[in-house]
Amino acid sequence: MARFPALLAGLLLLAAAGTSTAELLRVQHRPKDEGSLAFLVIGDWGRKGSHNQSEVADQMGIVGERIGSEFVISTGDNFYENGLTGTDDPAFYQSFVDIYNAPGLQTTWYNVLGNHDYRGDVEAQLSPILRAKDSRWVCFRSAVLNTGLAHFFFVDTTPFEDKYFTHPGKDTYDWSGVLPRDKYLSDLKKDLDLALKESTATWKIVVGHHTIKSMGEHGTTVELMDQIVPILEENKVDFYINGHDHCLQHITSIDSKIQYITSGGGSAAWRGNIKPWSRPEEMKFYYDGQGFLSVQMTKDEASFVFYDVFGEVLYKWAVTKVAKLYSDA
Ligand SMILES: [Zn+2]
Repeated sequence: MARFPALLAGLLLLAAAGTSTAELLRVQHRPKDEGSLAFLVIGDWGRKGSHNQSEVADQMGIVGERIGSEFVISTGDNFYENGLTGTDDPAFYQSFVDIYNAPGLQTTWYNVLGNHDYRGDVEAQLSPILRAKDSRWVCFRSAVLNTGLAHFFFVDTTPFEDKYFTHPGKDTYDWSGVLPRDKYLSDLKKDLDLALKESTATWKIVVGHHTIKSMGEHGTTVELMDQIVPILEENKVDFYINGHDHCLQHITSIDSKIQYITSGGGSAAWRGNIKPWSRPEEMKFYYDGQGFLSVQMTKDEASFVFYDVFGEVLYKWAVTKVAKLYSDA
């Protein structure tokens, strides 16, 4: 009996939040220092240590410690091949807890869902039960992460892709919580747009599993190009960060300021399937192997570094707000 008033209070709080702001889940992350931010990005990883997952994890730990990483962003496909079977699935330990055990990785992990996660029990990954097992674990479909300096807008991209609905083949997807699909997608686009418009952060970063611009195996996701890119462009998003293609990649835009970054090299890679990019001047870097990304930010500059499975620096670049304002003028 005592649980009912608590549940009701929680619902009222949610309803109140929905009346004045966009309805995306809001998460606050207090940075160590108000003026800077350091974090790691990895995607497409959970294979119980195989396919060099453990080797990439070890190097992430070293870099994480060196830069003082404050959290990890996972771009999805957290557990291969078919997500988690439930909150008791030992893969949570075998692919996450016991693999990312270096001191430099003992921070919060903000995880989005990939298409492989949707092939299992989605609610299990979203469940607070996993957080009770390992306090680093935070997973949501879509949310806004406020770190002060940067706002991260996590977008659940899997339900956008038509083929999972029209041609699922032998795969089964857990669409509970997503149907009816049209309403789910239109609400999400509206909420994303509102949340971006409300944001006054120096850096606006959108994170989703699926590629928007990519010369990897999956290439461009037409549904996101049509439905999400206009929202990103209108709201002057700085970066879109994704996984899905098992590579490391940086593509700029001729016709907007958005930079597209793929960090999907957490385990299996080397697919050897490289598509030509129609605008070669946009293609800054492509690596068809394993690795991860580090990001360090101040209000003036964002610095990115891609590392390979040995921890060697493959490519680095920086974006400055001063230059951006200048070029906007
Ligand atoms: Zn994927």
